[in-house]
This record gives sequence, C-alpha cells and structure tokens, in this order.
Amino acid sequence: MPNIAVFIEQRDGAFKKVAWQMISQARKLADANGGEVWGVLLGGDSAEAAAKAGAHGAHKVFAADGSFVTYDSERYGTALAAFCRAQKPDLVLVGATSMGRDLGPTAAAKLGCACISDAVGLAFAGGAWDVRRPVFAGKCFVDVVPKTAPAIVAIRPNAFVAQECGGAAAAVASFDAGQAGVTPKAVVREVVGSAGGRVELTEADIVVSGGRGIKGPENYAMIEELAGALNAAAGASRAVVDAGWVDYSHQVGQTGKTVGPNLYVACGISGAIQHLAGMSSSKCIVAINKDAAAPIFKVADFGIVGDLFEVVPELTKAVRAIRS
Ligand SMILES: Cc1cc2nc3c(=O)[nH]c(=O)nc-3n(C[C@H](O)[C@H](O)[C@H](O)COP(=O)(O)OP(=O)(O)OC[C@H]3O[C@@H](n4cnc5c(N)ncnc54)[C@H](O)[C@@H]3O)c2cc1C
Repeated sequence: MPNIAVFIEQRDGAFKKVAWQMISQARKLADANGGEVWGVLLGGDSAEAAAKAGAHGAHKVFAADGSFVTYDSERYGTALAAFCRAQKPDLVLVGATSMGRDLGPTAAAKLGCACISDAVGLAFAGGAWDVRRPVFAGKCFVDVVPKTAPAIVAIRPNAFVAQECGGAAAAVASFDAGQAGVTPKAVVREVVGSAGGRVELTEADIVVSGGRGIKGPENYAMIEELAGALNAAAGASRAVVDAGWVDYSHQVGQTGKTVGPNLYVACGISGAIQHLAGMSSSKCIVAINKDAAAPIFKVADFGIVGDLFEVVPELTKAVRAIRS
C-alpha cells in the first residue's frame, strides 16, 4: 500500500502551485493502487494548506512543530528526514524548484535513500514506482525504478495538472521536526528577489521568450509587452543573456531555468539543443522566426515564418483586443 508524502513548499506564506499539481497526481495513483496522500508542511498557515491540499486530494497534512521562516538546508533537511523516519511514506515528492532541488538530496542523504531529480512522469506498476526524467539535455527520457523506501523524487513544475477533486480540508497532525541539536553550518540572512513582482518563469502558465533575433536590448520591451498582455513570464535565450540584454534570471535552457508552461512563445530563437533542454516539455510551443529552416520549428506546434518586429506587436495588439 504505497503512501505518498508531498512537500508543500511555501515562501513567505505563499504556497507553490507545484504542491497541488503533485498532490493531484499522487491522488490518482493512490486511488488506483491504494494508500494515502499526505502533505508535509514546514512553516506557513496549516489551515490554508490543509484546505488546499484536501481540495486537491490529500488525506492528511503533517505540519512540523517549530518555526520555519527562511529556507535552510540543514533545518529543512532534518525536518523532512524526521518526518520520513516517523511516518514511513513509500515515496516523497518535492517540487523541482530551487528549494526542492536542495531539500530532496539533503533529506535523501540523511536517510540514505534514493533521490531522483527533475522528474516529469510518475507511475506505479507491478508493485514498483516508475519515474520518468529527461537525460542528455532532453534528447531522450529514462524510466527509473527506485529501490529504497522511501525514495525522494523532485517533480518539475507543470509536469502534472492541478485538479480539484472537491475534497474537504485534510486533517492536520503535527510532527516532531527533530530540530533539537541542529546547528546550521550557514545561515541565510536575507533572500533578495530579482523578479520584481513579475510572474515567476518556472511557475508560469505562459512564457514568452526572446532570442538574438530581437537584435538589441531596447527591443526586449516588445517581448515584455506581449508577456504582459498574456499575463505571462518573460524568458530569453542564453545569447540574449550573454550579450547583457537581460538579466540571467530570465534565461531558459540547459544552463538556465527549466520551464514547462501550457504555452511557450519563442520569438527570434533558433532552437539550439541547449535552449530546447529548458522548454521542450512545454504543452504547446509557438515559434516566430524569419528562417523557415530554423530548428525551433521541429519542436513547435504552431510556427509563424516572419519578421518578429512585425508579428510580435500585431500579436500583442490582438491579444489586448481579445482580453479587453
Ligand atoms: C554548455 C552550453 C550551455 C548552453 N546553455 C544554454 C541555455 O541554457 N539556454 C540557451 O538558450 N542557450 C544555451 N546555450 C547556447 C545555445 O547553444 C545557443 O547558442 C543559443 O541558444 C542561441 O540563442 P538564440 O537562438 O537566441 O540565437 P541564434 O542561434 O543566433 O538565433 C537567432 C534566431 O533569430 C532568428 N531571427 C533573426 N532575426 C529575426 C527577425 N527579425 N524575426 C524573426 N526571427 C529572426 C534567426 O533566424 C535565428 O533563428 C548553451 C550552449 C552551451 C555550449
């Protein structure tokens, strides 16, 4: 009977929606195979977490005792490991966010268990978990079968759909987060966000990205305008970032952020393999490029062969007209 624990990530009290996506998927697996879905909360409003987790299919939420404000590897890792030792879930899901990518391996090292990063698929068959993840910059996928219980799996944001199933608020239980005697080797004093209130790339439903085809930094405003009209996040290729036209926090790709939105609009981006590694799991890809032979069209669901300086402003105008 596989019980699945899902880490409910929060920063400054705001929950990451990847938690509800993972709970929805976990509930589907639990309904088909038995077992329960548990939320694990370190800090944040437990009543709000329980309501949202229950609505997406969680049976229980375990809230840590003690105060968890700023993320700290040692304290959070110890807490998640303490939870696993006490409740013995078969599988633990964390979001493949900057926090989850640190927390998963930290807790796994403390537990001596398997840790699988950057997963985009999860199934349970023949009594075993089957975790799908991309390899070789997204050129192919491997299905990994963890051999420990628990196993910790980091799931990419937007890999699964968050679905409310009409459940009541999950029951809340507290757990001993094992913090006595924890002495962090480093302390985070302050987290300074660079996104300036914009939609966060890795969480966005829609991403509009600009590549070297925009020709200069002054034209990135065109990308931001289309992104603004669509309530999307604005991304960029590495060529644009390396040229200093936009900040690195916008970079999508192998050495930037991995995104998986419902819609990805690539403007003036050639479609190098390193860029595709960060966005090819997007549900729908639209490419705007003046070169009909650009590799981006091989992964695009819709392509516009044309000059982005004509197409993008027209698109922005049309979106604004529809939205008004
Ligand atoms: C180890 C390594 C890691 C890397 N990591 C990343 C990464 O994380 N992310 C990333 O993006 N890249 C990464 N790269 C770089 C990658 O290989 C490419 O160089 C880069 O993605 C190219 O960016 P681009 O598509 O914007 O530019 P280009 O390849 O120069 O393409 C520009 C495109 O714009 C089109 N264009 C030009 N003018 C117009 C116009 N007026 N209208 C419409 N289209 C137009 C052109 O036809 C062309 O297809 C990495 C490379 C290496 C070696």
